[in-house]
Amino acid sequence: MELNQRVIVVTGGNAGIGAGIVRACARQGARIVIGDNLLDDTTEGLLAEVDELGGEAVAVRCDVSRRDDQENLLATAIETWHRLDGWVSNAGIAGPGTLLEMTDDDLDRVLAVNLRGPVIGAQLAARRFIEQGGGGVIITTSSVHEDWPMPDNTPYCIAKGGVRMLTRNAALELGPHGIRMINVAPGAIRTRLNEPWLADPGNVERANATIPLGRVGEPDEIGELVAFLLSDRASYLTATTVTADAGLSQYNHEA
Ligand code: NAD
Repeated sequence: MELNQRVIVVTGGNAGIGAGIVRACARQGARIVIGDNLLDDTTEGLLAEVDELGGEAVAVRCDVSRRDDQENLLATAIETWHRLDGWVSNAGIAGPGTLLEMTDDDLDRVLAVNLRGPVIGAQLAARRFIEQGGGGVIITTSSVHEDWPMPDNTPYCIAKGGVRMLTRNAALELGPHGIRMINVAPGAIRTRLNEPWLADPGNVERANATIPLGRVGEPDEIGELVAFLLSDRASYLTATTVTADAGLSQYNHEA
């Protein structure tokens, strides 16, 4: 129970990697505020699972591109459990479009969710941690595409590169307050975001052939990593990115 009664906000926590993070934190006894813009009939099931695993959770509708919605997540954590120990900015959306074809709307939407969302989250969490006297952990979720170009997903790659730099930059500012900030860069994980790509068996076959461990990852595998990073066992880690891709990004994909 390494996160016993630690209060942790997880954005995009209702599905995919976020739900994996919620389950992993629940296994360690955490108290979790799930923030998601799509709470649906799976939410009750996830809350019941958290309970069975030994955690506690509440779910709040939240669009991370809106500051007031993220403020409401923080307020929920404080009203419910009177403190904050961890903040995971995981919510993200796909961002297709080439530089030549993308519209301002494509760019603005992806940057608002995938980059402005984590910036606002980090700011709200850090201010609260400092009010509490310091300490606390902030996790961001970027992607292997933070520094591995994918020209038909230009808005996504720009945003994820920004998330990596957010963590490096803010961790330097927040370190003196005892706040750790770590970025996680997943590879190919089986989630709804990847559904169109996973639906083509040829894609999975080709990916499995180039992933050194030979398979696409599961949301709970990223969840377990994030729970570890939130815990005191990761006490000497900050400002860094942990790439969780079974070795995929070590290939030279441009070759
Ligand atoms: P997903 O689509 O399965 O889940 C994303 C969750 O975020 C959903 O519950 C969705 O409702 C929520 N969400 C979407 N927009 C939101 C918003 N504006 N405000 C609040 N919640 C919102 O996707 P996933 O694969 O679990 O992705 C989670 C994170 O991991 C994203 O940041 C994504 O870019 C990143 N990532 C995923 C993969 C992958 O292979 N699946 C790889 C690298 C990085």
